[in-house]
Amino acid sequence: MAMPTKQEWTERAEAQVKRTQLFINGKFVDAASGKTFESINPRDGKLIANVAEGDAEDVNRAVAAAKASFDAGVWREMAPLDRKKLILRWVELIHAHAEELALLETMNCGKPISDSLNVDVASCANNMQWYAECIDKLYGEIAPIPRDSVAFIEREPMGVVGAVVPWNYPLIITSWKVGAALAAGNSVVLKPAEQSPLSALLFAELATQAGLPDGVLNVVPGFGPTAGGALGRHMDVNKLAFTGSTEVGKYFLKYAAESNAKAVSLELGGKTPHVVLGDLPDIDAAASAIAWGVFYNAGQTCHAGTRVIVDARVEDELLDKVREVSKSIMPGDTYDPATAMGTIVDRTQFDRVNEYIKIGESEGAKIHTGGKPVEPVKGGVFIPPTIFTDVKPGMRIEKEEIFGPVLGSVRVTNEEEAVRIANDTQYGLGAALWTRDVSKAHKIARQLRAGTVWVNTFDRSNITTPFGGFKQSGTGRDRSLHSIEGYTNLKTTWIQL
Ligand code: NAD
Repeated sequence: MAMPTKQEWTERAEAQVKRTQLFINGKFVDAASGKTFESINPRDGKLIANVAEGDAEDVNRAVAAAKASFDAGVWREMAPLDRKKLILRWVELIHAHAEELALLETMNCGKPISDSLNVDVASCANNMQWYAECIDKLYGEIAPIPRDSVAFIEREPMGVVGAVVPWNYPLIITSWKVGAALAAGNSVVLKPAEQSPLSALLFAELATQAGLPDGVLNVVPGFGPTAGGALGRHMDVNKLAFTGSTEVGKYFLKYAAESNAKAVSLELGGKTPHVVLGDLPDIDAAASAIAWGVFYNAGQTCHAGTRVIVDARVEDELLDKVREVSKSIMPGDTYDPATAMGTIVDRTQFDRVNEYIKIGESEGAKIHTGGKPVEPVKGGVFIPPTIFTDVKPGMRIEKEEIFGPVLGSVRVTNEEEAVRIANDTQYGLGAALWTRDVSKAHKIARQLRAGTVWVNTFDRSNITTPFGGFKQSGTGRDRSLHSIEGYTNLKTTWIQL
């Protein structure tokens, strides 16, 4: 299908928003309080819609619906082949509504429309398909015990799963959690971020159209401390899967401790280093991977490669090349299919990123590229690719997650120093290494403390590989078969013969 033009996307956006209520037990309903909140388009600062604002009472209703569907066994007891077929029908509907989903994602998050369509929606559909296809391929185990007994070990669904997700990749992260939780046979209550509630509502409606029984997937848009907190504290939620900031992730451990000791998995923040040795194999490839790896999605990626820790002998050449590549990632109208970088998600985050740029300058780092907001669409919150040099270990811009298109370069003179600085962070989501020496590649990859280490590449990954962090980047893993384990309880049945 031909990509619609900028004009066409702009015209469609006006009429796009059809679902703004909570989705509970297979129906769209108002919040019990009747309250709504404004959903704003970061492209131009204009109101998209007033969205129902779920809070504790609505979470109670959604959890009750999820629990009833679980207890009735309408999903968990359906034959695996039938569950697979149902999700595959849903995937077909996601493809059929791809442009609608993409436009909602772009309107909420400020992503370029091409990325929303070709990356976010495409990946969401692919992930759901992958999880669907797992459903009838998961086997249990028989334990090696004395011959007077048989013990089999199975994975059972946990019950009601609460999923609380952020705004940076709403459909992708939702598909990681909902796909794995449903594949395991659970029922789900999803709370999207307040910045990006719209795509989740259509995603859930399509599930119902595909035949997912009522109550198996519910969506409660609303704010963190109210709707998110209520889900985290709910006595009937058996597992809480969270993606978001490290600060908020820790609240969910507290909520679990204060309520029913529910299982909690956390996918949190990052400050991914690129360790660039003097013998890197291809400086152009590295520059391209570094630029796209931090400026893609306007830097709002948990594993964005925000720190370059580079051998002094190659720093200048590398950064000049990164700047050259970044010229093709300049902010533009999010409805223009040619745009490679969109907006920051909202004005609060925009102010925060600009504040960090000021902090960097006041700490003595030097702006090599960018640094000042631009306004390709009036009223929009756009920050261009920004590079700092002369960043020193321990500066705030080197330590803290900025979550914007800001790269900092730290110059080093040897590998030991590079690895020490790379690891000297509370985070451990990803790390990259650039070297042509195969034994150094192995040695240093082992030393880097991160859930994923890339060597001579960056951000290569897909649904088959686990994703998650070491240290304060979290616990638990999204993606791969390991993620499905995270939504199950291991059960042993021992039979005396
Ligand atoms: P956030 O932590 O502010 O919000 C995430 C979710 O938590 C939202 O749905 C929000 O409403 C909810 N929330 C906020 N405060 C809450 C509270 N007190 N109680 C309960 N729920 C609450 O994060 P964000 O700003 O939406 O997203 C950016 C963060 O997410 C970054 O730190 C980023 O690194 C992280 N992230 C991590 C991954 C990963 O897989 N590790 C992926 C994407 C984003």
